[in-house]
Amino acid sequence: MAFLQGVTSLPCRLVHHTGTMIRFTTGQLGQLPLNDEDCFLELPDGAVVRGHCPRHPDNPYIGGSEIVRWIKSWVPYNAPANASVYQVGTGNRIRLAVAAPATHVTAEDDATKRRVVSRARKLSRIPESGRRRRSYEAWERDSYLRTVALSAWGTACQVTDCTFLATVPTHILPKMVDVHHLNHVSRGGTDSPLNICILCVVHHQLIHRAPSSVLQSWDLDGSTVTVNGLTLKIIRDAPAIM
Ligand SMILES: [Zn+2]
Ligand SMILES: [Zn+2]
Repeated sequence: MAFLQGVTSLPCRLVHHTGTMIRFTTGQLGQLPLNDEDCFLELPDGAVVRGHCPRHPDNPYIGGSEIVRWIKSWVPYNAPANASVYQVGTGNRIRLAVAAPATHVTAEDDATKRRVVSRARKLSRIPESGRRRRSYEAWERDSYLRTVALSAWGTACQVTDCTFLATVPTHILPKMVDVHHLNHVSRGGTDSPLNICILCVVHHQLIHRAPSSVLQSWDLDGSTVTVNGLTLKIIRDAPAIM
């Protein structure tokens, strides 16, 4: 029996909060499974994870530890992202696609900001060598990810106003950029296209090697990283890669 009832897709919200989940509205109950149902969910990066959709008339959602982990790796706290789930085939397999950019972490939202900064500080206490090794392993493990990122975004460094590659011959540019995980692998960041950006080798090394490198904010458009007091704004169009 199909997971979605009578429709091929359903809008949803990706919520990262005290409860982290794919949330639906009570008005969508008729399109969701009639009973508690397990599902296989295709994430935007192609990974397939297990989910569970309890029949919960007041709060319809899809949860599951792998889904929670993935949502937390790129949806800012308390800034839900719009998305949709699509029926795949005729069984309990569905696909998740991001519908629109997530809400930015705004300056007014100080509570959210403090939380983001404090989590980033915790990350910065992980020994540098460990962070770097694990982060590199992640993208080397998946050359497909690198190929997808470069073909969608090109070989320009996504740090605003970066000029380090200005004197590099065009055909060498692909060798001078790296895929970087905005939300580091060591703190649960995934290989999702939503969690990566392209950096020139100089900015990449700067972020990983600087004595102080703090992820200040991140969302679907990009990220702000403070490196020893210098603010790097990393801008890229995540939905373009979906
Ligand atoms: Zn990196
Ligand atoms: Zn750069």
